[in-house]
Amino acid sequence: MQFRDLKKQYQVLKKDIDEAMLQVAENGNFIEGTQVKDLEAELAAYVGVRHCVTCANGTDALTLALMAWKVGRGDVVFVPDFTFFASAETIALAGVTPVFVDVKKETFNIDPQNLELQIQKVIAEGKYTPKAIIAVDLFGLPAEFEAIRQIAKKYDLKVLEDGAQGFGGKIGEKRACSFGDIGTTSFFPAKPLGCYGDGGAVFTDDDQIAEVIRSLKVHGKGANKYDNVRIGINSRLDTMQAAVLLVKLKAFKEYELARVNSIARSYTEVLQDIVTVPFVEETYYSSWAQYTVRLENKERRDGLQAELKKQGVPSMVYYQKPMHEQKAFEELTSGADDFANSRELCDTVLSLPMHPYLSETDINDIVCAIVQWKNR
Ligand SMILES: *Cc1c(COP(=O)(O)O)cnc(C)c1O
Repeated sequence: MQFRDLKKQYQVLKKDIDEAMLQVAENGNFIEGTQVKDLEAELAAYVGVRHCVTCANGTDALTLALMAWKVGRGDVVFVPDFTFFASAETIALAGVTPVFVDVKKETFNIDPQNLELQIQKVIAEGKYTPKAIIAVDLFGLPAEFEAIRQIAKKYDLKVLEDGAQGFGGKIGEKRACSFGDIGTTSFFPAKPLGCYGDGGAVFTDDDQIAEVIRSLKVHGKGANKYDNVRIGINSRLDTMQAAVLLVKLKAFKEYELARVNSIARSYTEVLQDIVTVPFVEETYYSSWAQYTVRLENKERRDGLQAELKKQGVPSMVYYQKPMHEQKAFEELTSGADDFANSRELCDTVLSLPMHPYLSETDINDIVCAIVQWKNR
């Protein structure tokens, strides 16, 4: 059994993927081939925004957004304390001070109340200028964007949706990657929509920002790549990856997203009396990048993980360490905040196998192993 079975997905989609990759090899337009344009158009339409600009990975997508907004030294950007490192790394890389915000235990996402508190603290201190909020759709569940946008409006901040894990999620009928002034995603193989290497995309309704990002990702190009009007980076999505993604997006829309939601329902039905299952508020729809349960404490969590391993069931701890405890951010942390929820989550979360090609037998084996562990 695999935690995320990419080989099985390939076996199912093999004919179309092989054909798509061969076509790229035969055409020879490995950089900015027509497949890249086609993919951008399809992604923008799916997400429901005017512009999609693809790039080399999800981290670059975040970096491009911050570059387009020209945040820099003296500014701060707020980011959840419980996330993948890249969400916070990109802020520091821009020379900006990241300010960590605690999350809600139930949703794993940024806590709007703590967000406002942290903003007020920065303002009261008067040393830095608050510029933007990075809200992460952790494990596939969109963050609380209605509340976040209200706070952003009140303090005149930009909202950047880190949808690296959120692609395919929804609030009402609105899709993930459309909730911020800019949204980003990642096509790292293990993400909800993954390619066969690294890839990413930026989404926005803002015509001017889209144009700036198109320039930034190709060395700050003007009329062409030898006319350079700003300092940029080199961050393109390969044509080969776009070709693979066009095939995979079709499967994602047709059945993969529905399938992971049906697996999540099966898990929840059996597991809700045994562990704390993930909470999805009404009107919210998750893309289930992870199905993450919570245990009473670290001993119980580690115990369950060891038992699952014995039974041949892979599981993962996302994440072991909160941002404020990362050595890379050592100098930033004042020690004044306790980030109680984020710290507790690191000790109590466990992610179970989750992908659209998980069989009924696998699902049954996984829940049986957990039921057995409970009854021992
Ligand atoms: C994976 C991930 C990223 C970075 O994406 P890459 O494509 O690996 O650079 C950023 N933020 C979050 C929340 C992620 O999970």
